[in-house]
Amino acid sequence: MTEITNLGVAALRDGISGGDFTAVEAAEAFNAAVAGASALNAFIVATPDHALESARKVDADRAAGKALGKMAGVPIGMKDLFATKGVQTTAASHILEGFTPEYESTVSQKLWEAGAGMLGKLNLDQFAMGSSNETSYFGNVISPWRRSDGGNTPLAPGGSSGGSSAAVAARLCPAATGTDTGGSIRQPAAFTGITGIKPTYGRCSRWGIVAFASSLDQAGPMARDVRDCAIMLEAMAGFDPKDSTSLDLPVPEWEAGLNADLKGKKVGIPREYRVDGLDADVARSWDEGIAWLKDAGAEVVDISLPHTKYALPAYYIVAPAEASSNLARYDGVRYGLRDLPDGANLQDMYAATRAAGFGAEVKRRILIGTYVLSAGFYDAYYTQAQKVRTLISHDFKNAFADVDVILAPTTPTAAFGLGEMVSDPLAMYLNDVFAVPASLAGLPAMSVPAGLNREGLPLGLQIVGRPFDEQGVLNAGLAIEQRAGFTARPGKWW
Ligand code: GLN
Repeated sequence: MTEITNLGVAALRDGISGGDFTAVEAAEAFNAAVAGASALNAFIVATPDHALESARKVDADRAAGKALGKMAGVPIGMKDLFATKGVQTTAASHILEGFTPEYESTVSQKLWEAGAGMLGKLNLDQFAMGSSNETSYFGNVISPWRRSDGGNTPLAPGGSSGGSSAAVAARLCPAATGTDTGGSIRQPAAFTGITGIKPTYGRCSRWGIVAFASSLDQAGPMARDVRDCAIMLEAMAGFDPKDSTSLDLPVPEWEAGLNADLKGKKVGIPREYRVDGLDADVARSWDEGIAWLKDAGAEVVDISLPHTKYALPAYYIVAPAEASSNLARYDGVRYGLRDLPDGANLQDMYAATRAAGFGAEVKRRILIGTYVLSAGFYDAYYTQAQKVRTLISHDFKNAFADVDVILAPTTPTAAFGLGEMVSDPLAMYLNDVFAVPASLAGLPAMSVPAGLNREGLPLGLQIVGRPFDEQGVLNAGLAIEQRAGFTARPGKWW
């Protein structure tokens, strides 16, 4: 039998329910992989007992002939942005260090109810702000990938869900949760050769997820392939009265609906994404994707999304504005860190706690956010950005009157070296240039591995779909996956 850690979600689920191995054996194999990979710094804390305990329950249920859940016996990694009862939840920030929630996020609760167990809490960019994992208070994650030229430059796993992407790519877990506000599932998935889907805004409850920009934040699965994402998304999604923006719709059977035959489907290729100076390997990979979708039976047409170039600036107004409001709650009173200098009054304590607790990028976002929301600048920035957001939604609406899905690259380049971009926030923000339009419009979007660039690093292709049409996105993703034949994986050096 292949090593258990080489198996994905579907194979683990089927192997356990078919009696090929036990859930405890699976949990033990992945716990050992996590314990042996501290060099990647993918986990902030490991929770081997959580994984074992839920595995024991699955094995007992199976022995008793009880029905098993969709994720029965599958141990997963949990991005440390999800509140987990009794397990430290930090958002990778010093200000939350030591915070142990009394409650479980809706998404994690649903995953446990589906039979999954938790291997640990995964590292991320602080408060999910970043594209490289370098803003984490707990040190950056290192991608398991290395360039093929033999250099050992440590590479970024992407961000903010960089612990999730690195852990899945390194076979430390078969799947992990991610969250995506402006690309944080798709960009790290693309950088590490894995698959990730951000569903339609509202599909997964935000309750119990540390808030970044509430009108954009969406949870989703990161896994090895499209089927595994479909299975895990079914377990994560669903109406939740505790989240006022939760979609009150039934959860489709996405796994059962998988179908890579795209006959009768139309795929749009947005011309505005073919920017001047587009990386040659990225352009080639996009062309290959177009050919694969044609081969799957789809008709491919050129489309225009005319306001694309305003998406990134609008995102970097809307997201910091919401973040500055959401992060006001970290005041040294209610959660985690409290810095109370001698003789300090309440105001001094707020200031000292926030100065010591937030990292530099988080402070930058709070400053930008409060600035664009301040009297006198509100209309010039925030209102204007909201108008742009509406125009971007209209662009997509017009395009989807004609096409079923849109195909584009996920990122403008493959993974970069750690430290290469930290001193230039604008260059870092450009990583998300292809990801944020779908976020602003609340659309389902996924990244699938498409091939390797000339340095031997993974590239992802992005599929964006109509609201609620995760199935269309997954199916186009499957058509690409079947043709890309992406089997590359990082050699083990950790
Ligand atoms: N990298 C983007 C940012 O820094 C997106 C982050 C995210 O989606 N959480 O805001």
